[in-house]
Amino acid sequence: MPGRDAIRGRIMTVRGPIEPAKLGATLMHEHVLWDITRPKMRGSNDQGPEISLDNVWQYNYGEISHPRNYHLEDVAVAIDEVARMRDVGGGAIVELTCGGLRPDPLGLMAVSEGTGVNIVMGCGHYVEPYQDPRNHDRSVDDFASEMIGQVMTGAWGTPVRAGMIGEIGCSAPWTALERRVMQGALIAQAETGAAINVHPGRDPDQPQEVADFIRGQGRDLDRVVISHIDRTIFDTDRLLKLADTGVTIEFDLFGQENSFYALSDIDMPNDAHRLRHIRSLIDHGHLDRVVISHDICYLTRLTRFGGHGYGHIFRNVVPMMRRRGFTDDEVDAILVRNPRRLLTFV
Ligand SMILES: [Zn+2]
Repeated sequence: MPGRDAIRGRIMTVRGPIEPAKLGATLMHEHVLWDITRPKMRGSNDQGPEISLDNVWQYNYGEISHPRNYHLEDVAVAIDEVARMRDVGGGAIVELTCGGLRPDPLGLMAVSEGTGVNIVMGCGHYVEPYQDPRNHDRSVDDFASEMIGQVMTGAWGTPVRAGMIGEIGCSAPWTALERRVMQGALIAQAETGAAINVHPGRDPDQPQEVADFIRGQGRDLDRVVISHIDRTIFDTDRLLKLADTGVTIEFDLFGQENSFYALSDIDMPNDAHRLRHIRSLIDHGHLDRVVISHDICYLTRLTRFGGHGYGHIFRNVVPMMRRRGFTDDEVDAILVRNPRRLLTFV
């Protein structure tokens, strides 16, 4: 494909390609400018109460739920929040706001310029309920060529190029439309050399279903990251079986420390439990298949609204890892080497 040689061996950020050595410590799954307002809430004029000390716990525990908490368009706020991560050692963010979540590529470019943080943007489409209804009429090849264009020339009507494909939305059960988008993503992956991020459905066997499907299509699992393992897989057997396929396992709800989870009735782990799962992956030889993040997509997870912010992993999780016997080399693999390998175009 024309242009592929120019990007091979480099990482594509929203401000253009960089040398992999310049990436820095990387959060592999965040949202910086986004709109994840529940489809049933969309179009409502009532944003709900301002977030305050008086109600932030209720927001976080699902006692109240309002559109206000689910979107951020303000570039100045995003710059301030991302700068706080930079100031505690974060170098890069993979921003996976894709089709259905109102991506803002030019806004991301402004955040990157305003902070000096490398931002790698995703592309493709989120789960079916969020997608443009017109997607139902689109073919695999149509999705593939859209994603190839987003990586090679620019996304969502801008010249800003995606550096990763995803998060590609999958539900449980997996819908026919979501499967077509995934097939398009696999073609785009092969054509561009980017990696893919998968948002799996909320069923413990759905990540394996996706991995088996990808393998069945003859595609390379080495370039696939499966997100949200924290809310999806709770037992070591499933976790290790999935890791054995060669996919990268992403624990990306770090900082989500209460047991409440709005979207299903699960036993949400805390950060310590997340680190135990990561330890068992490492003990089984999968150190090079683990990445971490916070998946911030609610205002109440930002510092100014009472949350932990993008810096939590650097301020708190890395010290906890060290206390729990993670070596410098292991921390480096999870935060620097693995992201660099995945984001470098092949
Ligand atoms: Zn996400």
